[in-house]
Amino acid sequence: MYSGSVNPGISRTVVEDIVRQITLEYLAKKNGKAAPTLVVHASARHMHVSREDLDKLYGPGHELTPDRPLYQEGNYAAKETVTLVGPRGRVISNLRILGPMRKQSQVELAFTDAISLGLNDVPIRLSGDLAGTAGAVILGPKGVVELKEGVIRAAIHVHMNPEDAAQFAVKQGDLMKLHVGGASGLTFNRVHVRIDPTSKLNVHMDTDEANACGLHLAKELELTK
Ligand SMILES: [Zn+2]
Repeated sequence: MYSGSVNPGISRTVVEDIVRQITLEYLAKKNGKAAPTLVVHASARHMHVSREDLDKLYGPGHELTPDRPLYQEGNYAAKETVTLVGPRGRVISNLRILGPMRKQSQVELAFTDAISLGLNDVPIRLSGDLAGTAGAVILGPKGVVELKEGVIRAAIHVHMNPEDAAQFAVKQGDLMKLHVGGASGLTFNRVHVRIDPTSKLNVHMDTDEANACGLHLAKELELTK
């Protein structure tokens, strides 16, 4: 969910341009109503924290400080960051925390991030589905958390509200296709549908996926059942 830095060669400003806003014209044609705007975001690696873990990392009772709002209502990139330590002592520093707090802490990495950390078997999961996933050690300014599980590659997914879902004729958990046009364009065949009344139509992919399809250069996007 967080469009932060992808690698040292790309500035934060450029990465934030990765946000594409293209209207799905075929929907408008189909039913004559205003079509929802499809926005595709590349989520750089990040962490969601539980109350208990934030207490350990930043001190008891610490509250996250919103730095900037994310596209989905109520979500934000916090000012707080942590350091992630892999199994052989390799680290990823400045890992951004996204708010609000969650019931369980979760670290979302792209495959490239996982390999650089020494984790070769990070599974692709939907957010919150953490049983049996890898753990990691997290360092904050006030303490350490040893996560027993919770490190995932987030499965590419599309957020939408029930009205959008009706237009696409999809239900919770269905898989859709996202075609990204362009010089290195490609089609993602397993885009998981996540429906919530508060959601705006929005695909989340990780930075490896965004780089593979040249998202920042994409001229067209198409989401289909
Ligand atoms: Zn998402």
